Amino acid sequence: MTGPDAIPEATPPADGAPAAAPLVDTHCHLDFPDYDEDRDRVVQAAREAGVVAMITIGIDLASSRRAVELAERYPEVYAAVGIHPLSAAEVTPTALDELRRLAQHPRVVAIGEIGLDYYRDRVPAAEQRRAFRAQLELAVECGLPVVIHNREAEADVWDELARMAEGAPLRGVMHCFGAGSDWARRFCELGLYIGLDGPVTFKNGERAREVARTVSEDRLLVETDAPFLAPHPYRGRRNQPAWVRLVAQRIAVERGRSLPDIARQTTANAARLFGLPLGA
Ligand SMILES: [Zn+2]
Ligand SMILES: [Zn+2]
Repeated sequence: MTGPDAIPEATPPADGAPAAAPLVDTHCHLDFPDYDEDRDRVVQAAREAGVVAMITIGIDLASSRRAVELAERYPEVYAAVGIHPLSAAEVTPTALDELRRLAQHPRVVAIGEIGLDYYRDRVPAAEQRRAFRAQLELAVECGLPVVIHNREAEADVWDELARMAEGAPLRGVMHCFGAGSDWARRFCELGLYIGLDGPVTFKNGERAREVARTVSEDRLLVETDAPFLAPHPYRGRRNQPAWVRLVAQRIAVERGRSLPDIARQTTANAARLFGLPLGA
């Protein structure tokens, strides 16, 4: 067998770029059952690929608890806790109390992923907005940044964030940003960062690449959203944090910069936003 499928799953791509360029995968889902068979190996592969930190993101209460456990187990892993808009019904006062408790853990660096997802109308918008607002308020209360999921809901996400920004300075990231460069600029004006992942490498990823070229350098973050959205040439396979390098590499090409430059900048941005104790 030849081609990318012949490469063992956890081997970082041998593309000649120095593995030493430190990277942060600011958004992955390491608690998913996709990694139950080989989680240690996946984390080790990330280490070997120069990934100095990974933030594993909760999508509901159960995964938020697991995210905290993983952050306790692996020194490079940090956790975000939160309830995804497609599970908005789970956001009850009891659930918010538990998130508040989890958020006190020293390895929890953000509230997320939270936001709005209008793709296919799976959960009523009013229900999603209620859950989003409650968790935004929790983040402000806890003094943590937010990890925002937006799918076809940018106008309403912007409204909610602008409303919060009136009361307190906003800190957070628009993860897996797919809404184009005009919206990217508007979210940056609110104080947010922009997270880019696999789609910048896709054939049909021009919209994400335009954002990669135009977003202000001090607001750019890289992520994988693993196990989803594996970058080219692994598209369609199970994604993993080691492959965040392929995302950074494509952004470097788009911006006419070197991979170590983009790595240094996005790592500094991640450290600043999430308060990660990354020495160099
Ligand atoms: Zn998401
Ligand atoms: Zn996600």
